[in-house]
Amino acid sequence: MKAKNQLQEKKNKGRLFIISGPSGAGKTSLCKKLPQSLHNLKCSVSYTTRNPRPQEDNDIDYTFISRKEFRSRIQQGEFVEWAEVHGELYGTSKIRLEEMIHSGIDVLLDIDTQGAKQLKEKYRTGVYIFVLPPSMEILKKRLKKRKSDSQSDMEKRLRRSIDEIRSYREYDYVIINNKLDVALMELEAIIIAHRVSTKMIDPQWIENQFLR
Ligand code: 5GP
Repeated sequence: MKAKNQLQEKKNKGRLFIISGPSGAGKTSLCKKLPQSLHNLKCSVSYTTRNPRPQEDNDIDYTFISRKEFRSRIQQGEFVEWAEVHGELYGTSKIRLEEMIHSGIDVLLDIDTQGAKQLKEKYRTGVYIFVLPPSMEILKKRLKKRKSDSQSDMEKRLRRSIDEIRSYREYDYVIINNKLDVALMELEAIIIAHRVSTKMIDPQWIENQFLR
């Protein structure tokens, strides 16, 4: 019991793991699978104006809202970041994020490069990870497989991919998602390494436990 309390005390606030990359790189699959293998990690649920795809649930995959409601939430300053992607609006709720961080939960955010840039100004200690597909051909194939997207949607996504890829240098890590299980292992390794990094330990805890 004592050991458990000590561990809780040394734990700082939750950390942010921001994942970006072109549509079709496999970010969504990675983000869904990671919390199953790593404890104390949750996906941030964004707000969006786009329509739900088959199999998507409200408040689980996204919170689906109208453009009018999204605009009003922008006015109220509710988003810690937001961006227009493929003609639709996407944003991260400040309250949702802060609640998770303050309760010590690490948060995974699957957001675009514009949103990641905004977050970087506010959360400097976040870990920024870029996911790439193995090649342009594979990216095209993956996008074509998404039957829920129309042809023009697919073309929009493909054009944007190139712009997104240009931002890879802004990120701390790049993962090439050729095989999902390997990419997942690499992501887990990044998260675990950050959890035990020196800067994440509360110096006061070390002081109280060992140096007094
Ligand atoms: P999709 O419509 O395919 O689910 O997502 C399209 C793009 O929007 C993806 O690149 C995804 O990372 C991004 N996205 C999802 N949620 C957010 C968000 O809250 N903020 C920003 N800036 N981008 C987001």
